[in-house]
Amino acid sequence: MLINFNRVFLFIFMKKFGIAVHGGAGTILKSKMTADNEKEYLRSIELAVKTGSDILKSGGTSVDAVTESIITLEDNPLFNAGKGSVFTSAGTHSMDASIMSGKDLQAGSAASVCGVRNPILLAKAVMLDPDIVMISGKGAEEYAKISGLKFEDEKYFYSEFRYQQFLKAAQNGKAMLDHSTYDENDKKFGTVGAAALDQFGDLAAGTSTGGMTYVKFGRVGDSPLIGAGTYANNNTCAVSCTGDGEFFIRTIAAYDISALMEYKGLNLKEACEEVVNKKLRVIGGEGGLIAIDKDCNIEMIFNSQGMYRGYSVNDGKIFVSIYRPDIL
Ligand code: ASP
Repeated sequence: MLINFNRVFLFIFMKKFGIAVHGGAGTILKSKMTADNEKEYLRSIELAVKTGSDILKSGGTSVDAVTESIITLEDNPLFNAGKGSVFTSAGTHSMDASIMSGKDLQAGSAASVCGVRNPILLAKAVMLDPDIVMISGKGAEEYAKISGLKFEDEKYFYSEFRYQQFLKAAQNGKAMLDHSTYDENDKKFGTVGAAALDQFGDLAAGTSTGGMTYVKFGRVGDSPLIGAGTYANNNTCAVSCTGDGEFFIRTIAAYDISALMEYKGLNLKEACEEVVNKKLRVIGGEGGLIAIDKDCNIEMIFNSQGMYRGYSVNDGKIFVSIYRPDIL
């Protein structure tokens, strides 16, 4: 029998790495999805996973893998982040993003920014700045300009689909999530996020969103809030959330998972179950999250009907899915 020594060497010495990605949770039913749409969503999530996984495989950092993976989704009009962001009540696009490095607990976040092509790059620039953690609004846009980040005009962010959502919400005079119809039973959260473990054993997580359609008063959800929508700590896990932002803020959901592991000794699965299916459910919070721990265990959990999601470990097969197996 021939022994492939390269493979044996790799098997013994290669450190585990992996990435999980989400493109939002909500009322995502197979019965309401066209075959073409479904294919496009799965292809987009797969690309996001592959982009991050390739970086990890070649020895890149989890921060870079998370950032580049999220950029593919921010550039994709299907998701409510970057290019596909929903309209505010003022007819603008107000985007939020955050990123955290588990190695040193460095974090960066930007809220309510307009025109920045990739808000996750702005969050990363803030993370690398030793003086700040979170910026917002006009000041954040100025920071993006100084950092040399790319801006796009209103045309870039416009899509007929999003505009129709805006008109529906305007008729009701009320902010709504990424709905295709104005129906409380048809909620979609198109936020995107990624969580990764690199070959150095470092964890990172990031989240990016266009928030809610027809949003008023500068409302900000959980996505740019470190601890609520995003958290990473090398001692425990990296987490990115999607769902009813207000509930994820009130439960400090992402940090809570890390805290349950750190202080209560729960494993990743138990901690995710506790937060998503108990703490959030009890107060009526709908949504889900992706998480990866320091041993490369991955959880993709949601209490809604579906969540665009995918993952890969050690550059192996990419798993992508949308629905809950028990609901069609
Ligand atoms: N969590 C986001 C927010 O509340 C929405 C989403 O996940 O799509 O702004």
